[in-house]
Amino acid sequence: MAVLIDSEKCTGCGLCRKNCPYGAIEITDKKAVVGPRCTSCGACLEPCPVAAIVTDLPPRALADPQAHQGVWVWAEQHGGQVSGTTFELLGRGRRLAERLGQEVTAVLLGRGVENAAGELIAHGADRVFLAEDDRLARYQTLPYARVVADLVKAHGPNIFLLGATPAGRDLAPRVARRLNVGLTADCTSLEIGPDGGLLQTRPAFGGNVMATIVSPYARPQMATVRPGIMEPLAADPGRKGEVTKVTPALTEADFLVRIKEVVQRERAKVDFRRAKIIVAGGRGAGGARGFELLQELAEALGAELGGTRAAVEEGWIPYDRQIGQTGQTVRPELYLACGLSGAIQHRAGMMESRYIAAINRDQDAPIFEIADFRLIGDLFKIVPALTRAARAAR
Ligand code: FAD
Repeated sequence: MAVLIDSEKCTGCGLCRKNCPYGAIEITDKKAVVGPRCTSCGACLEPCPVAAIVTDLPPRALADPQAHQGVWVWAEQHGGQVSGTTFELLGRGRRLAERLGQEVTAVLLGRGVENAAGELIAHGADRVFLAEDDRLARYQTLPYARVVADLVKAHGPNIFLLGATPAGRDLAPRVARRLNVGLTADCTSLEIGPDGGLLQTRPAFGGNVMATIVSPYARPQMATVRPGIMEPLAADPGRKGEVTKVTPALTEADFLVRIKEVVQRERAKVDFRRAKIIVAGGRGAGGARGFELLQELAEALGAELGGTRAAVEEGWIPYDRQIGQTGQTVRPELYLACGLSGAIQHRAGMMESRYIAAINRDQDAPIFEIADFRLIGDLFKIVPALTRAARAAR
């Protein structure tokens, strides 16, 4: 299969070169020439104004929306405890499903986890597929991938979401490969587009741009979602849903890997999820002394202390307090950004905060673009004044 240029028709306008995502087309002697990097993706065909590009690739059919219904969520659980990310996905899944007029289904695997099915329904699932087996007691790549992929193949959902947790990141590509569909990893936003397709947004190119990805050809549209970004629904214990038990068809081939021992890693000490207020510092805090001032403010406000990667790299705060693309994602009621510029990689971890207040001496600092409250000035003056006010108010 190949992409060919009809040199009689080609005018050498270069539009094909511009549209080639692989840099596989060159213009030589005013004619387009396809090089070895070509993957036959076909992106150059449509832009050619003189139809000089031809291919013997069969045209790709758009997915049939009627044939694929439902928003599915992988219900991650460990020891019967459903992960917080699962509830977040159910919350967003409900919103997407309501936009589409479809149902939300949770896929729950494990042993003795039937009670968790009720929790999933209370948090927004209409239906739960429950696959119980002694061999599924603990998460394992191959058997989980087998059961989940078999269920998806049998029911053909429209959308399938997993948490971008260690287990979700392990499972999702395995399942996507078995289904021969694409996967958008580490999404920070999910919306329904005007044509009913899933708009999957994630940071790209080192976080310098936010890319929105659509999957028009294959179903389900699969995405993993960063923990801590989507909002869970409040549990409604009266909500009704259906639990469908399925018998997993597992074979010896699914147990090529045997777990001999599980060593629990010490969890990060800081749990930002419970923090209503976060005081975050950046390079502008200038050093350990600046962070002491921020810590005093945090204590006066009953807040957690966080910071930027710059502050972590300077050694002013430990990594488990880093907020952003390569740190933690937070969504407190109030995020107080002190002496940080608001780089896109930092914003990726805090922009869903309810209110953002920023202290910066540069009135053009990017953080002010997303701040609800702007405090322009020197943090070494503003922060102690806020601390005094907070103590007095207490
Ligand atoms: P700066 O950008 O240097 O900003 C300092 C700010 O302080 C300035 O706006 C300045 O005006 C202000 N200031 C200085 N003195 C004062 C004062 N006395 N009073 C008030 N304001 C003052 N960054 C993260 O934070 N989290 C991440 O997870 C993350 N991941 C990344 C991943 C990748 C792949 C890459 C490439 C980068 C990542 N970064 C991350 C780094 C990010 O690009 C920025 O470099 C970083 O966020 C900048 O930190 P900062 O805002 O503290 O420093």
